[in-house]
Amino acid sequence: METKQFKAESKRLMDMMINSIYTHKEIFLRELISNASDAMDKIYYKALTDDALRFDKDDYYIKISADQENRILKISDTGMGMTKEELDDNLGVIAKSGSLAFKKENEIKDGYDIIGQFGVGFYSAFMVADTVSVISKAFGSDEAYKWESNGVEGYTIEPCEKEGTGTEIILKIKENTEDEKFDDYLEEYRLKSIIKKYSDFIRYPIKMDIYEKKLKEGSEEEYEEYIEEQIVNSMVPIWKKNKNELKKEEYEAFYGEKHYGFDKPIKHIHIKVDGAVSYNAILFIPEKMPYDFYTKEYEKGLELYANGVLIMNKCSELLPDYFGFVKGIVDSEDLSLNISREMLQHDRQLKLIAKNIKNKIKSELSNLLKNERDQYETFYESFGRQLKYGIYSDFGSNKDMLQDLLMFYSSKEKKLVTLDEYVSRMPEDQKYIYYAAGQSNERIEKLPQTELVADKGYEILYFTDEVDEFAIRMIMTYKEKEFKSVSSGDLGIEVEENESDASLNNETNKELFEAMKNILADKIKDVRASKRLKNHPVCLSNDGELTIEMEKILNAMPN
Ligand code: ADP
Ligand code: MG
Repeated sequence: METKQFKAESKRLMDMMINSIYTHKEIFLRELISNASDAMDKIYYKALTDDALRFDKDDYYIKISADQENRILKISDTGMGMTKEELDDNLGVIAKSGSLAFKKENEIKDGYDIIGQFGVGFYSAFMVADTVSVISKAFGSDEAYKWESNGVEGYTIEPCEKEGTGTEIILKIKENTEDEKFDDYLEEYRLKSIIKKYSDFIRYPIKMDIYEKKLKEGSEEEYEEYIEEQIVNSMVPIWKKNKNELKKEEYEAFYGEKHYGFDKPIKHIHIKVDGAVSYNAILFIPEKMPYDFYTKEYEKGLELYANGVLIMNKCSELLPDYFGFVKGIVDSEDLSLNISREMLQHDRQLKLIAKNIKNKIKSELSNLLKNERDQYETFYESFGRQLKYGIYSDFGSNKDMLQDLLMFYSSKEKKLVTLDEYVSRMPEDQKYIYYAAGQSNERIEKLPQTELVADKGYEILYFTDEVDEFAIRMIMTYKEKEFKSVSSGDLGIEVEENESDASLNNETNKELFEAMKNILADKIKDVRASKRLKNHPVCLSNDGELTIEMEKILNAMPN
């Protein structure tokens, strides 16, 4: 039997692959820049192990230059370069990663620093270019070669001239189409913004020749133009800096730069973890609710970087819904750059990071509650409802995570209190945690149902948010105390018999009660004498699972 090799149309395969991986054409630049950065890292690693080699940081940089007239975009680096064989191997074989091989050979911890490992990033250049040329001179060699391809009919390799070690990628940018303005990729401003967006934290300088204007010397209105080489990326990301070196204002500036919100964050959380998974993160708890928070448009998520390179703007897997208000970034060395959304959902590292982050947010919120109560209350005004939804929506499985963060208005304290505070104040004979639901504190205060409980001196929590009662039903008990609505039939309060009560029984008033029942017919189930009232002649109470307030809400919901 003969085993045959699969054949594939390489052009179509390439198209398919590139289009399934990349949603935005602009990321070709990110890919080429990260390859350049990898190539310089490789020299850096060589220098680490070879004493004869000196690594002088100034010699390593990436240069981007655009020639609009000829539609040429050049990305050059002073990295390792490629030999003729390497050009053939690494660029001629799709899904072959020279960088992954390098990591294995040099036993570099997986994912550490060097970004590439999938062997497809380079081909993203064909999304924007008709022809791609690669001129490269390998480290330690004095021969240079040029690899060239138009992506369809394969590639050529031939000897050529090049000055220093490194690689130059030359893209012949496509003509504009109806759907895509390829001209953009030749424009200084656009290129700068793409670099800023995706590659700001690449550790090597990315240089560009920028056109500048200044007033001619001695002139008030005449300008002269000149070209200045500038470094476009900021290189060291704030989250990799030391916490002690950073001021609150710097975090706030970053919050603003990132357009996380127009408010100032209530709190920033700077996390550095080295362990089963390594990552840096800066998270923010905003002060105000974004205007679109409760709309379909709002997307939760954190920015996700693989070692300084942006993978995703909003990685929703990193935040549970109930912490969906948190903003920020996560950068991990343990993630691969080309990871797709589908792969992310199953990524073990990412799950670990998400769990870690969730616990960290929880503990920071607890600290805020403990130490900066005013700030916490401001936060709670904006996002408390989200926490309650969190408990309600997962059938109470988040209760341990969230119940200590809840606050309700207290009849006694006349301010927001926690469940813990409530329970710790309960008199010994009080069996339940009492609550009353209604539209506002003022309305609840007037409810006849609250009388008996309040008279006993027990504290009542006011539930004014629609979700409150539903969430509490999921919690069921807090510190072994059950919750009880003041309008439930049995309040669990012993009422002493006295003379006026004696006249109030169901037998002697039978006729009156029957008459009332007939009049209210389908609105009520029964009329009974009650011992719970003081200043009001009558009140509503309920026997069933649902309280009156819950029924109102359920009835108001669209089916
Ligand atoms: P990956 O970066 O995931 O390995 P790419 O398709 O981006 O895959 O690149 C393929 C390979 O080509 C790289 O692994 C590397 O060996 C080589 N390569 C690409 N660009 C450069 C460059 N600028 N300098 C040196 N080698 C490069
Ligand atoms: Mg790459």
